[in-house]
Amino acid sequence: METTDVLVIGGGPAGAAAALTLTQAGRRCAVLEGRPAPEWKIGETLAPESRQLLLALGVWESFLHAGHLPSPGLCSVWGDGGPVEKNFIFNPHGSAWQLDRAQFEAGLLAAAESAGTRVWRGCTAQTIQRTAGAADGRRWEVAAGDEIFRATWLVDASGRGSVVARQLGVTRPAVDRLVAVYAVVAAPTGRDEDARTHLEACAGGWWYSALMPGGRRIFSFQTDADLLPDQQRWREAAWFWAQVDEAPLIRALLPSPNPACTTVARLTSANSSRPTACHGDGWVAVGDAAQSFDPLSGEGLFHALFSGQRAAQGVLQNLAGSTHGLAEYAALSEALWRRFLHQRHIFYASETRWCGEPFWQRRLAPVAAPAQPMADFPMPA
Ligand SMILES: Cc1cc2nc3c(=O)[nH]c(=O)nc-3n(C[C@H](O)[C@H](O)[C@H](O)COP(=O)(O)OP(=O)(O)OC[C@H]3O[C@@H](n4cnc5c(N)ncnc54)[C@H](O)[C@@H]3O)c2cc1C
Repeated sequence: METTDVLVIGGGPAGAAAALTLTQAGRRCAVLEGRPAPEWKIGETLAPESRQLLLALGVWESFLHAGHLPSPGLCSVWGDGGPVEKNFIFNPHGSAWQLDRAQFEAGLLAAAESAGTRVWRGCTAQTIQRTAGAADGRRWEVAAGDEIFRATWLVDASGRGSVVARQLGVTRPAVDRLVAVYAVVAAPTGRDEDARTHLEACAGGWWYSALMPGGRRIFSFQTDADLLPDQQRWREAAWFWAQVDEAPLIRALLPSPNPACTTVARLTSANSSRPTACHGDGWVAVGDAAQSFDPLSGEGLFHALFSGQRAAQGVLQNLAGSTHGLAEYAALSEALWRRFLHQRHIFYASETRWCGEPFWQRRLAPVAAPAQPMADFPMPA
């Protein structure tokens, strides 16, 4: 049996940021990560503003030497048809980054481990129970494989699965049915060095493409689950690669001759959703477990790092006897969600070429502007 102050469930960016913050402050902390070793995950572009978070976590120098690609900007075809460039040259935080995602997560977890976090890899939290009146004050008992963990606090960093919230009966409604159908192909060495993120709208949704370290390029088509062809035809390479003809900016990035035609696509959920509560008695959710944004926002990783840090600070305050920290965190989460919904509406509504198509029509309903200014929140612009 392992006993700790804080048990973090999930060792992605949010969990690692929380664990690092807690351990650096002198708290005993353990992380359970279901994967035995870091693997590639979708979500490759890190916003420039993340630099300040990596600096605060003390991992900026190691990040710079981990082989991630600086990304100078964004090129999009959205709205009136012509390509628009957004260059980060004037961004005070510098460039964005195309990540080696497995390396990024390995680096963050290794930093938490060096600071003193106990990291359990290949260890999936299965049952989560409250322990009534435990003499040592540990409120939680978590079973993972043959191990039992007891902790005073739980941090839910399990991503979209929200395992803690769900086991506690908290529901997680979604705003939409967005999915991403994607494929990763080899990028021709020396001929494909364009590290900008490319984005393009089309009648049935939108595409993005990004070059990744190691000479790979991702092509991802975002649409609604119910708009996909029947009988899982999206699995057919021919169907997937035919869709890219609708997006000439993206199609131009395909390697030639096109090896992609035989590369089969995969599907993942990309909806905007959050549990109805982001914290409760002795637990708090961070990253995608607290709220997952439409990937159009490009803020998922920034939010994972930011919320991991902020929630951990709230837990530290709580362990020191104050309840303010988590109330502030909950208010910030709410403001962030409202800001996100508002921006999502503005962005989708600015594409009017296919406003009669179901994908675009569904995204036209106006959303109230966020009430609170977010002066202390350095969100990506
Ligand atoms: C199509 C798509 C494209 C995206 N592109 C971008 C992008 O370009 N830029 C960006 O900033 N964001 C992007 N995102 C979002 C980004 O990937 C997420 O916001 C980010 O991964 C959230 O980090 P996290 O640590 O909260 O969750 P995750 O990265 O999902 O990590 C959760 C971890 O918890 C572990 N876990 C789950 N359940 C358990 C359990 N029971 N026990 C133990 N461990 C468990 C998992 O193995 C996983 O490692 C994209 C998302 C999608 C869907």
